[in-house]
Amino acid sequence: MYCFNCGERLDEGVTRCPKCGTYVSSNNKDYSVILGVFAILLGILLAPIAWFCGFIGLTHAYKYNNTLGKIINYIALFIGTMVFLFYIIILSSTGSCA
Ligand SMILES: [Zn+2]
Repeated sequence: MYCFNCGERLDEGVTRCPKCGTYVSSNNKDYSVILGVFAILLGILLAPIAWFCGFIGLTHAYKYNNTLGKIINYIALFIGTMVFLFYIIILSSTGSCA
């Protein structure tokens, strides 16, 4: 990443530009992996939230070109979809019995 103030090349995880002293990382961070793991955990319970987190995670992953983030968030979207379909099947089968 680069300092938005002076354009200096910055190392990953740096919070402050060594050249001009501007704080850079507070709202400019790659959360794709964290969002992806979060989405997978949520996907087991709540598919719509898993999709929501997964899509945000994917945009982060593509923005920062994070391969691990892409994989994790695609898995999250897949699990969210599977769980949603699973609930649909459960609901439809119990509905037909009642
Ligand atoms: Zn700078």
